[in-house]
Amino acid sequence: MLPKKLGVLCLQGSFAEHLQCCVDLGLETVEVRDIESLQSVSHLIIPGGESTTMLKLLKAYGMWEVLEGRMKEARDLKIFGTCAGAILCSYLGLDVEVNRNGFGAQQASMIVALESEKFKNLQGTFIRAPRFTNCGKNVETLATLNGEAVLIEQDNFLAASFHPELLDETRVHAYFFNQS
Ligand code: GLN
Repeated sequence: MLPKKLGVLCLQGSFAEHLQCCVDLGLETVEVRDIESLQSVSHLIIPGGESTTMLKLLKAYGMWEVLEGRMKEARDLKIFGTCAGAILCSYLGLDVEVNRNGFGAQQASMIVALESEKFKNLQGTFIRAPRFTNCGKNVETLATLNGEAVLIEQDNFLAASFHPELLDETRVHAYFFNQS
């Protein structure tokens, strides 16, 4: 087992905001930009942004293969994916079908109150957010919007269709690193 070490994938998207959340929590965090830094972490946050672009960069830098190996074979990495990051989780084994941009275009962006037993008064920022459709039977729902799953957990995955890093909110990050 690797020592517990948190990283944020810093190739594209809202990684600066995630790094700030980690600073706010007082967590030492690795900026993951290459294979070496990717191999050094036990917990990885994949930010929101543009999943096609992020995937292209991950493949170009040889990091996608490492991610697949660690998630599907070694199973020694935990991932928290937000928005585009959640879409990438669905390619790495998270048992959910994802409808990209399912919450609408940029103009439909919104900040809304979510329902959650675990995180009271949780709000979500949705920006061209994916909809989670057909969650597998091992997927646990931690927060919903109008009854629809928006924060889910399964095995080594935690995935949010919204952006917890864009509001004054660190509980989901703390949960990811401390509980798992
Ligand atoms: N729509 C983007 C995608 O498909 C995700 C948007 C986001 O991360 N805010 O990758």
